[in-house]
Amino acid sequence: MNLKSLELNGFKSFGKKTTLEFTTPITSIVGPNGSGKSNVAEAFRFVLGEQSIKSMRGKKGEDLIFNGSSDAGRSNRASVKLCFDNKKRLFNVDFDEVIIERVVYRDGVNEYLINGSKVRLKDIVELLSGAHIGSSGHHIISQGEADRILHTSPKERKEMIEDALGIKIYQYKKEESQRKLEKTDENIKQVESLRREIAPHLKFLKRQVEKIEKSKQIREELVLKSKEYFALEEAHINFEKQNLYKERLLPEQELKDLQGKLKQARLIIEESQKGTDESSKILELEEKLGSSRKHKDEIVRELGRIEGEISYILKTISIEKENLENSGKPVPVSEIEILADEIREEIQKAESVGTIEIFKETLSKVLNIFSAFIGKNKNSHSPALERLQSELETLRAKEKSLQENLNTAKSEETSFVSEYEEKRSEMEKNKDDTKEAEKEVFKVVARQNELHGILDRLVQKEETLRSDEDQFKMDLGDIGRIAGIEAVKYETQRISASIDRKDQHEKRNYMERLKIRLEEAGVAGADETLKEYTETEERDVFLARELEDLVKSSVGLMDLIKELEQKLAEEFKIGIDKINNEFQNFFALMFGGGKASLKIIKQEKRIRGEDDFDLEEEKEIKYEEGIDIEISLPHKKIKGLMMLSGGERALTSIALLFAMSQVNPPPFVILDETDAALDEANSRKYGDMVESLSKSSELIVITHNRETMSRAGVLYGVTMGKDATSKLLSISFTDAVEVAK
Ligand code: ATP
Repeated sequence: MNLKSLELNGFKSFGKKTTLEFTTPITSIVGPNGSGKSNVAEAFRFVLGEQSIKSMRGKKGEDLIFNGSSDAGRSNRASVKLCFDNKKRLFNVDFDEVIIERVVYRDGVNEYLINGSKVRLKDIVELLSGAHIGSSGHHIISQGEADRILHTSPKERKEMIEDALGIKIYQYKKEESQRKLEKTDENIKQVESLRREIAPHLKFLKRQVEKIEKSKQIREELVLKSKEYFALEEAHINFEKQNLYKERLLPEQELKDLQGKLKQARLIIEESQKGTDESSKILELEEKLGSSRKHKDEIVRELGRIEGEISYILKTISIEKENLENSGKPVPVSEIEILADEIREEIQKAESVGTIEIFKETLSKVLNIFSAFIGKNKNSHSPALERLQSELETLRAKEKSLQENLNTAKSEETSFVSEYEEKRSEMEKNKDDTKEAEKEVFKVVARQNELHGILDRLVQKEETLRSDEDQFKMDLGDIGRIAGIEAVKYETQRISASIDRKDQHEKRNYMERLKIRLEEAGVAGADETLKEYTETEERDVFLARELEDLVKSSVGLMDLIKELEQKLAEEFKIGIDKINNEFQNFFALMFGGGKASLKIIKQEKRIRGEDDFDLEEEKEIKYEEGIDIEISLPHKKIKGLMMLSGGERALTSIALLFAMSQVNPPPFVILDETDAALDEANSRKYGDMVESLSKSSELIVITHNRETMSRAGVLYGVTMGKDATSKLLSISFTDAVEVAK
C-alpha cells in the first residue's frame, strides 16, 4: 500500500483531528448528504498543493478552516497530513515514510512541510510529480466532475491525457527550453546589436592606432636624426663663434694701434703744416671717413638685429598658422548638442512624411547644417597672429629704412675712400718729403680700409652664424614640441675643425620632411586612443565569444526541443494507442459492445482575439493538437457525445478515466460519487472496473452506491452531529449500507 493515512485537523467540517487509515486496495467513504465526504476528497487536493480555492469550494483560504458551530469553537488553522509508505521508494527521497503536510491560517498564509520540515510549494510539486501524482488532478475525480473529460476542449483533454501518461514532464521541459531559447535569441540579438554598434568605432580606433604606430616609427627616426643633428649643430656654432672671436682679435687690435699712429701723424701734420689747405683737407677727409664708417657699422649692427627679429617672427607666424590649420579650437559640447538637436529635428520631420524625396532633401539639409557648423567653428582669425603680422610690418619698415641708410652710408664711405685715394695719388706725385706724416696718414687709412674690409666680412660671417644659431634654437623648440623632449636630449660634442654645412643642411631637410610626415600622421591623445582601442577590442572579443557561446547554447536548445518534441510525440502516440486499447475494452464492458477511441486532431489556434473583426485580415492562424473522442454505441446509431444520455455519458467518461489510469497507474485514485448516475446493472459493471483498477492503483471511493461499497475492504462512515462537525467511524458493510441511507 502506498497510502498509509490521511489526517485532517480543522479542515472544513472536520473541526477535530480525524485520521483515515488506508489498509486495503479499495477504501470506501460513505455517509449522508452534507456529512463531509467530499471534504475528504478536497483534503487530498489541498494537501497535494492545489492552488485553486474554488476547486475546493471556497473563495479564500479561510473558507477551508473549520468555522465552528453553536457547540464547537472555530479553528485558527486547517491542516491536512498525508502519509505515504516509501519503502519501495515511490518518492525519490531516502525515507521509508513520507509525510506531506499543508497548513493554512486565517490570514491566508500557507505552510508546506515534508516529514515535518518546512519546504516550498515547488518542493512538494516536484516530489509529487516524481511519483506520478500530477497537478491536473486527473486522479482525483470530484463529485459531478466525472464527465469533465467529455465536455472539456480537445486541447485541455490532450493536456489531461498527457498528464495521465506522465509525459507532461517533457512538455514542461520543452516549454522551459523554449523560454530559455527565446531568452537566448534575445541575448544573441542584443549582443549582435552591441557588436554592430561598436564596429564602426572599433574600425576608426584601429585606423587611429595604425596611424599612431606609423607616427611612432617616424618619431623614433626623427628623434635619432635630431640628436645627431643638434649635437653637431651646437658644436659647429660654438666652434665658429670661437673662431670668429679669435679672427676679430688681431684686426681689432691693429685698428686700435692704427688709431694711435693716426693720432700721432695728425699731431705732426697739425704742428708742422698748420694752415695748409692740403693737410686740413686730408684731415677733414679722414675724419669724415671715420665717422662715416662708425655710422655705417652702427647701421649694420642694427640691421643684423632687425633681421634676426624678422626671421624669428616669420618662424613664429608659420608655427601659429600651422597650429590654426591643424588643431582648430575645441568646440564646446553645448554647441554640438545644438547641432545634434537641429539634425534630430530634421530627421523627425522627414520621418513624419516618410517619402524617399523628403529623406533625400533632409540628407542635403543635414550636409548644409554640417558645413555651416564647420565654417562657424573654423579658426580664421587669431589675435596672436595679427599681433605678429603687425610687428613684422613694423620691423620690415625699419629694415627697409635701415637698408636705405646703409646704402647711403656705404656710398658715402665709398665716395670718401675714392676721394681720399685721389688725394693720395696726387700727393704721391708731389714727392714732398715734408709730407711724410701725411703719407703715414695715407698708409694708416689704407690699412684701416683693409682692416675694415676684413671686419666687415667677419660681421657677415657672424651674421650667418647668428642666423644659424637662431635657426638652431627655433629647431630645438620646434622638434621638441613635435617629437618630444627626447629628441632634444643630445650629447654635447666638440669639434676641432669647421664642418661641412652641406651635410648638415641635408640632414635638416630630411628632418623637415620627417616632421611634416609626423604632423600629417599625428593623432592627438595617442595614449587614450591606444587605451580605448585595447578596451574596445577586448570588449568586442568578449562579445564575440559570448555570441559564440549563445549561438552554441541556442543550437543546443533547439536540438533539445526537437528531441523533446519527438519524445513527446512518440510517447504520446504510444500512450494514446495504449489508452485506446483499454478504452475500447472498458467501453465494450460497460455497454456490452460498441466502439470507442481517442483521435489526435489538429485545430485552428487563434492568436488574436476572435472579437477583433477589424483586424480580420491580420489574424494569424496557427494549428494546435487536441484530442477528440469518437464513440459508437452497440445497436444504436448514436455517434456524437452530445447525444448520449446522462448515464451513458457517465459510463463513457468512467471508461475513459479508467483506461487512462490503467495505462500509467497513479499511486492512488479518488472517485467522488462517480457512480451517482448509474443504474443497478451498470453499477455492477462499474464495481467490476473499480476492482480491476484497484490492482494497479489504490482507490478511495466516495459513494452512496451499495454495489460500489461492497467492493471495498474498509468502509468509513462520515456523520455530522448537532455540533456541525464531521465524525468518522469505521463500519461494516451492513452498517455502511445503513449509514449511506
Ligand atoms: P453529499 O453526499 O451531499 O455530496 P458530502 O458528504 O459530500 O455530501 P460535503 O460536501 O463533504 O458533504 O460537506 C459539506 C459540509 O461541510 C456542509 O455541511 C458544510 O457546511 C460543511 N463545511 C464546509 N466548509 C466548512 C467550514 N469551513 N467549517 C465548517 N463546516 C464546513
